[in-house]
Amino acid sequence: MQLIHRKIPREFLEVLPEGMKFIHRHEEEFLVVEELSCPKGHSLMVDTVRIHDEPSISIAVRRAGGRGLIFIDAYWGSHAKLYNFMADPSHPLEYADAHCPHCDVSLVVERECGLMECDSRRSLVFHLPGNENTIAVCARLGCPDHRIVVGGAPQRVQEEVNRINFFGYGIDDDAFGGI
Ligand SMILES: [Zn+2]
Ligand SMILES: [Zn+2]
Repeated sequence: MQLIHRKIPREFLEVLPEGMKFIHRHEEEFLVVEELSCPKGHSLMVDTVRIHDEPSISIAVRRAGGRGLIFIDAYWGSHAKLYNFMADPSHPLEYADAHCPHCDVSLVVERECGLMECDSRRSLVFHLPGNENTIAVCARLGCPDHRIVVGGAPQRVQEEVNRINFFGYGIDDDAFGGI
């Protein structure tokens, strides 16, 4: 599998929301989430669990055997995750019933997944600073559907950003080596 790199639309950079940054790494350009919060304003960023050398985004999930934390890569489109629990094959975790790790408020909303091949009707919604701008991701683990809503960004540009997904990142991938 290969890294599929997509250019970041220039028009999006002009309205780049607070809480996201644009970086160059290994001569490629990426969007990276810097700050996300639950609806009550608690930061979900975890500086001590870093993925690709950036703080990760943490969510708490209910699972057989209790509560667990999932740490999500802040690189837009990467979808790499770390877990603080072991997978239980007899209770596979298909959906992330996600909550804020601080106040336990649910992050789940009813929303149909934007991808044809996924029948999920649940998403997780995260707030960028200022509370007007949001990121929604499909709650089905492994589904790459993600949507950004940024005031002032034309719909067409947001769609372009939504289509940025990197598949096949991993050990044979130079840009993302070293996790
Ligand atoms: Zn919270
Ligand atoms: Zn989905």
